[in-house]
Amino acid sequence: MKLTRSRTLQQRAEKLLPGGVDSPVRAFRAVGGEPPFVVHGEGAFLWDEDGNRYIDYFGSWGPMILGHAFPPAVEAIQQAAGRSASFGASTAAEGDLAELVVKAFPSIEKLRFVSSGTEATMSAIRLARAFTGRKYVIKFEGCYHGHSDGLLVKAGSGVATFGIPGSAGVPEEIAGLTLALPFNDIDAVQAAFAKYKNQIACIILEPVVGNAGTIAPAEGYLEALRAITTLEGSLLIFDEVMTGFRLALGGAQELYRILPDLTTLGKIVGGGLPCAAFGGRAEIINMLAPLGPVYQAGTLSGNPLAMAAGIATVGHLIAHRAEVYSQLESMSEAVAEGVAVEAAKAGVALTTNRVGAMWTWFFTAEPVTDFATAAASDTAAFARFHRAMLEQGVWLPCSQYEAVFLSTAHTIENLEQTIQAAKAAFAAVAE
Ligand code: PLP
Repeated sequence: MKLTRSRTLQQRAEKLLPGGVDSPVRAFRAVGGEPPFVVHGEGAFLWDEDGNRYIDYFGSWGPMILGHAFPPAVEAIQQAAGRSASFGASTAAEGDLAELVVKAFPSIEKLRFVSSGTEATMSAIRLARAFTGRKYVIKFEGCYHGHSDGLLVKAGSGVATFGIPGSAGVPEEIAGLTLALPFNDIDAVQAAFAKYKNQIACIILEPVVGNAGTIAPAEGYLEALRAITTLEGSLLIFDEVMTGFRLALGGAQELYRILPDLTTLGKIVGGGLPCAAFGGRAEIINMLAPLGPVYQAGTLSGNPLAMAAGIATVGHLIAHRAEVYSQLESMSEAVAEGVAVEAAKAGVALTTNRVGAMWTWFFTAEPVTDFATAAASDTAAFARFHRAMLEQGVWLPCSQYEAVFLSTAHTIENLEQTIQAAKAAFAAVAE
């Protein structure tokens, strides 16, 4: 595979942007090799600057659930752009998308749009602290909630990929307000509530973890978190930036039938444009300015292009709910299991964790139930696998600690090609 033009572009980018990138994992440091520069995407495919074509299994890290350049979204964005990219004043589209979100997520009575998942979780935490009058926050090791200071403690995604325990530049006074506990361990949560009696504002979690690789909640775990937060007067925040509209229309909360107090959304809600949201019970959301004392604002919040892409995407998911989610489930199962079978045949130790159209092939023989067990994976073997797949035109997320995503644009033929590529790649891993 030729990456000549991508290499030249990377060299130029490195002179101008740290690591040549605007978001760390894109630099491919965890898997080695050269990152292809993308020019074009359509359906399940990406094309790079050297004309190589890839089956895309990271979908812009989640948003592209209907595939790239989904025609209704493209048309909606074009039409909105023709009316101006931004007004900084209210538009009907904000109410239109809000109505769709509320329809999909029964726990959300009211919401506010922002421009990134980071803003959504940061604002939800501020709201939880104001509502409860408490300052401590419980999060879980390996969960990533964006890059606001307090939420970088023991975070997943790129933070885990680079082995950083937190981040330089976060004062210990701020990091000290975050209690990072192991995922799937309810005793640890009970102990924290006992130690910090009446001081814990909220628990925030990815109800199905994606940012340590995919990890499902143990049976009864989410119910136990719901019960303890209610008992202790804390709020339960589901960060569904990744899982919302992906695991089911109403995200993990629909799948596991748990109603959180607050929910954060991102990625799919904006159809690939910068858009996210946080919402929940009206009595909590009404604490936001201008109704209440919690300040939160954004020049580009509710941006008309983002609203247009979100309405086209979420509108399609609502209108075609049954077909979309059953297709995603059966196709995801076919490819996730098909690759796992090839690993077994090649004698490569692999644990496949999958929930719907989101999964991770962990290079370990042991079950993965929390960050510690995820971190026991053979990341060097993953890197060899990643490179061998890329060489064959299959682009997986470039870290062991990320989830693979499927779109409705992937075809059976794409999946078969992927399984064949994996067969050859496992031979390279086993070497
Ligand atoms: N929360 C979760 C669960 C995420 O996966 C991410 C990003 O990957 C974020 C929050 C942060 O979102 P953004 O990158 O839009 O700031």
